[in-house]
Amino acid sequence: MSNYKMETKCIQSGYEPGNGEPRVLPIYQSTTYRYTSSEQMGKLFDLEESGYFYTRLQNPTNDAVAAKICDLEGGIAAMLTSSGQAANFYAIMNIVEQGDHIVCASALYGGTYNLFAHTIKKMGVDATFVDPDCTEEELNAAFQENTKAVFGETIANPALVVLDLEKYAKVAHEHGVPLIIDNTFATPINCRPIEWGADIVTHSTTKYMDGHATCVGGVIVDSGNFAWDEHADKFPGLTTADETYHGIVYTEKFGKLAYIMKATAQLMRDLGSIQSPQNAFLLNIGLETLHLRMPRHCENALKVAEFLKAHEKVAWVSFPSMPGDRYYDLAKKYMPNGTCGVLTFGLKGGRDAAVEMMDRLKMVAIVTHVADARSCVLHPASHTHRQMNEKELLEAGVQPDLIRFSVGIENVEDIIADIEQALR
Ligand SMILES: *Cc1c(COP(=O)(O)O)cnc(C)c1O
Repeated sequence: MSNYKMETKCIQSGYEPGNGEPRVLPIYQSTTYRYTSSEQMGKLFDLEESGYFYTRLQNPTNDAVAAKICDLEGGIAAMLTSSGQAANFYAIMNIVEQGDHIVCASALYGGTYNLFAHTIKKMGVDATFVDPDCTEEELNAAFQENTKAVFGETIANPALVVLDLEKYAKVAHEHGVPLIIDNTFATPINCRPIEWGADIVTHSTTKYMDGHATCVGGVIVDSGNFAWDEHADKFPGLTTADETYHGIVYTEKFGKLAYIMKATAQLMRDLGSIQSPQNAFLLNIGLETLHLRMPRHCENALKVAEFLKAHEKVAWVSFPSMPGDRYYDLAKKYMPNGTCGVLTFGLKGGRDAAVEMMDRLKMVAIVTHVADARSCVLHPASHTHRQMNEKELLEAGVQPDLIRFSVGIENVEDIIADIEQALR
């Protein structure tokens, strides 16, 4: 980790060209890498030497971008994935096996909820969902013998619940399991969950990190802080021989890098959800301005939230950085400089009024996206969370009338004027 400040890391981390090399991170658009001896290549396959041999496992462009995000989060190692979904799937699958169990805060992104509630269940991994605001006792009660991880989102999409990271970390560690945090909405500019006890941090880089809605992508960052070998019986995948790699024991061979090495050598090898080097290149350009964009997203969102709150047709507004919000105190603690640019609200006319108001927006577009430079809007109950039933919707913190508004970095007066005319 470099000692640079965040702004400098956004620009400089991850890539340092040598004399006469390209100043800008090149796109290594190559599936493969040349070697002069067969023996050398063999050693790479045995993980005896490090080096590139096939882009499904590692690529220099991807590695540089992963290293930058790792530095921003204060981690020890990171890997890019093809999407945020792949990042969360791998983050869990890297440490669970058939018959295991995880504990999750129930306010989650819809895709993640489906992944944990249904898809991993078919693979024999169970999840218990807890109220994100539950007490320590309630959280404790969700654990089982076979629990291997706790999962939550710093700011839940779209419920905008701020997770009490310290509480979740404390309880996870008391049970000898890691806390995995999806930090997509806050970004490391506003919150670094590792500083509050998270062990693994994931992102959908598709959102603010890319920032321009150009590339779907994800990342997993390991803090290096979780002592897998102190809980060896829980994590045999990391602490006992991997027969598919000539009996390597990841914790013995790679120490603090064990988690990401296993995710690369085993999960990427077998499941192959890599990010394309082209996308990693564009993601890197997005990261170079993340520190400039996030404060503007937050500032604009607060103004939009205050405008909505004062409007006679608006029933409720949720924005954790707005005084009076349910999560204001937690937001101030974990994200003193701002939370994100996403807010939610409901209209007095309910679900039908929500849909009509959205249809009347002119500049702000209805899109299945969130957290990029352009303001956009979505009705989760009709779109992202459409597959959920009423009970699941409420558990995920999605009221049927909820409008998710992603405030962009346009001039805020233009954003408010568009909302105003639509409401009228
Ligand atoms: C969008 C999102 C995901 C899924 O990411 P994709 O890149 O769309 O696969 C996961 N978690 C959160 C919080 C998200 O907002």
